[in-house]
Order: sequence, then C-alpha cells, then structure tokens
Amino acid sequence: MEPLRSHLARITHLNQAAAVLEWDMETYMPTGGAEARSKQVATLRSMAHELLVSDETASLLDRAKPTSAIDEDLVRVVLKDAEKASRVPSSLIAALAEASGRAKGAWQEARSTNTFALFAPHLERIVDLSIQHAEALGYTEQPYDALLDQYEEGATTQKVSDVFEEVRSQLVPFVKEITGTGMSCEGPLHREYPEAEQWAFGLRMAERIGYDLDHGRQDRSAHPFSTSFSTTDVRITTRLEERFFNPAFFGTLHEAGHAIYEQGIDPALEGTPLADGTSLGMHESQSRLWENLIGRSLPFWEYAYPQAQKAFPLALSDVSLDAFYRAINSVSPSTIRVEADEVTYNLHIMLRFELEQKMITGAVAVADLPQEWNDRMEAWLGVRPLNDSEGVLQDIHWSLGAIGYFPTYALGNLMSVQLFDAAKAAIPNLDEHFRAGDFSPLLGWLRTNVHQWGRRRTASEILVAATGSDLDATPWMTYLRRKYEALVAR
Ligand code: ZN
Repeated sequence: MEPLRSHLARITHLNQAAAVLEWDMETYMPTGGAEARSKQVATLRSMAHELLVSDETASLLDRAKPTSAIDEDLVRVVLKDAEKASRVPSSLIAALAEASGRAKGAWQEARSTNTFALFAPHLERIVDLSIQHAEALGYTEQPYDALLDQYEEGATTQKVSDVFEEVRSQLVPFVKEITGTGMSCEGPLHREYPEAEQWAFGLRMAERIGYDLDHGRQDRSAHPFSTSFSTTDVRITTRLEERFFNPAFFGTLHEAGHAIYEQGIDPALEGTPLADGTSLGMHESQSRLWENLIGRSLPFWEYAYPQAQKAFPLALSDVSLDAFYRAINSVSPSTIRVEADEVTYNLHIMLRFELEQKMITGAVAVADLPQEWNDRMEAWLGVRPLNDSEGVLQDIHWSLGAIGYFPTYALGNLMSVQLFDAAKAAIPNLDEHFRAGDFSPLLGWLRTNVHQWGRRRTASEILVAATGSDLDATPWMTYLRRKYEALVAR
C-alpha cells in the first residue's frame, strides 16, 4: 500500500497547493496578478490530473494489498476516480476550460449591461460541450445523470426530480400561505452594525459551534467560501455589510459549517483523496444545518442574543428577542437566489434544475431561456424579474461550465433536516444544550455519523446509516411547517 499512498500524496499535495493559490486569488492577490495566477493553478491542476490517469496509478492500484478497511476504501475510490477521469479526453477538458474562460467574461459583461444576447452564444457552446462531456462520462438513463454525478455521486435525474416535485407541490402553496401573514419584518437587521463587531461576533459564534481556529482562519472576500488545504488547515471567508446583519453572520456560520465538516475528517485519511467531503449535497447539509437549523433557531438565540445586544447596542438594545427572531426568519419571495430566505430558497434551485435539464435535452433553447426563467419565477414565487440581470443572468455557475451543480444546494437543505432529526432522536434534550451554549453533543454526533468518513462512504450510505432512510423530502417540509406555523401563531 505504501507506494500507492505516497503516489496519492503527491496528487493530493498538488491539489492542495492549487487551493492555496486560489484562496489567495480571492482574498489578498492584487487584481493585476490574475492572469499569471490562473496559469499557475491550471499547471498544478493538470499535473494532478495527469498523475491520476497515469499508468503508474493503474499499476500501483493493481499491486496494492489492502490490509485495513481504510485501505480497501482507498483503492475502491481511487480506482473509480481514475477510471472516471480517464473517460474524458484531455482535448474536451481543454475545450471546456477555454469555453468557460470566455463565457465568464461575457457573462460579466452581459450581466452588467443587462444584455442576455451577449452571453447566449457562450452558453450554447457550454451546453454543447456539457453534452459531449456527459457522453464521455457515460450514463444509464440520460445525459444529465452524468453531469449530476460529478457533484453528487450516485444521484440520478429521475430520483432528484421526484423528490423536488414532491417539495414543490407543497412549497408553492405554503409560500403563498405564509407571505400574507405579516412575516416580513426585517427592520432591526438593517441598522448600525459596525464591521469590526460583526467580524468578532461572527467568528466567536463560529468558534462556539465548533470551528477550530488553531486549524482554521477567516479572511474577507467578495464572495464567501470555505477551502481546505489539509484537514489541519481549513479556511473560511466572509463579507461585511455595515448596515445589514445577515450577510456576515449567517455567511460565517454557513462557511464555518463547511469547514467544521472538513476539520472533522479522520486524520488517518490525510494526504489521500478520501480526505474530502463525500458530495456537494452532503457538504451543503453541514453548512445549512449550522446556518439555518441552529443559527435561525430560538434555542440558539436564547443563548446568543444577550451577547448580540452587547456587541451591537445601537442596533439591538431596544429590540426584543422575539422581534429579532422574527426578523431573522422573515419570508419574502424575491428574484435573487443568494438573498432568498430559508423557505423560498429551494424554489430558486428547482427552477435552475429544471431549466438545466431542458437545455441538455434540447427541450428549451438557450434563446428562450429568459422567458422560461421568468415564467417559472412568477408561477412558483409570485415575482417576476424586472430584467435579465436579476433573472437568468444572476448566477456565475453556468458560465463556469458547472451544469448539474445547482441541485446539490437543495439536496443539502433536505439532508440537513434528516440528519438533524436523527441527532435529536439520539441525544436527549438537545435544545437545552443549545440554550446553554453547548453545541458539542450535536458536533460529536455529526463527527461520528458524517464527518469522520470523508469519502469512504457516499452521501446516500451516510444518510441510510445515520437516519435509517435515503434522501427524503418529508422531514424538511415538516420542519418548515412546524417552525413557521409556530412563528405565525406567536
Ligand atoms: Zn455552501
């Protein structure tokens, strides 16, 4: 096993070094460094790719003699990774990279000038290449399966569609029901929140829920993210808005949730491809769990609110806990995904999922996308974008060639409640612990049932082992109903 392990460590180190360069690009690098930096990252990533698909990997895998369960999982996962990576010709990878390089610039221009036509030909090219990519990767039922599988291993279009359909049929009327009940009361969140205090308060709470700052660090970036350089160095970034409490605080909890997952991976997996989140959906379940199920819950704020009032006296000294709790949970359908509340967010995702599939099957032409987008937005959320910049052009994902990525956000929301319900069933009086500011019982449960496994188990295997069932929409809908019915009645 040792020769295989040291070979895999070289691949892992190249990817980790690329991640450091990418992190720096988003945080500290002067803008003028972008072009050279992109080339450096591309070099490291392609070296890692070449090593993975090399004959050397194949022969080391062939000769490996696993002597532990971890070794067996390692050989199985790397065989699959290498096999998948070798199915895609490098000419196609290069074409995708080139197309998305151009598309990203065109998308920025299209969005800032509100001209979809500038982006359309680039998106057509990306759709074409994505179909080729799907054909190269292979699938049993439909091409979109292959695209989805890159981000959510084992998920199929049919299964995700069924689950989303079940959610949507209940969620659309539910949103209408609660938006008419005076739930929108965000006022207290748009007051004076000094940036330095936002920074300190967010980080203190991230640490409190379990983000280890001896093995992590927070910096600022335009678009918050988390990234792992090893299980012992997992970074997060945040952004601050002087007169809005939400972006920094909930963004910090969200990214800390991602980082806590990576910090909790079994150290024995370090230096191997197993030391990573098992899927984007499972990753998102961890960020959403801390951001929403904890961070927007009453028990959490019964603990944290006195500290928040102390940190932000100008904004909160005359605001009751009840008013604050309502404010952070207000529901108001909007056209912008990243500003969406906990209730309406999944509808934004389902819209994208449906249109992505239709682009891949050819049922929707790129030229018709704005209209198709706006019609769904109006039917599902009751709002219509005023222009394409706040409609079909709002997200960067398609310009990056990331088709099949969006659904993982909603899958994460659904999984988060399944896991949280299982933790509550396993640990008595969890709310009492939260009220006392003790999140370690929940963290411990997540460590044992989710984090430690890294990629040794798939998302589906983790869910079944931890909760007794595979992906299921019912717990999430039940959670929303209970929470918002109680809020309306308060
Ligand atoms: Zn996330």
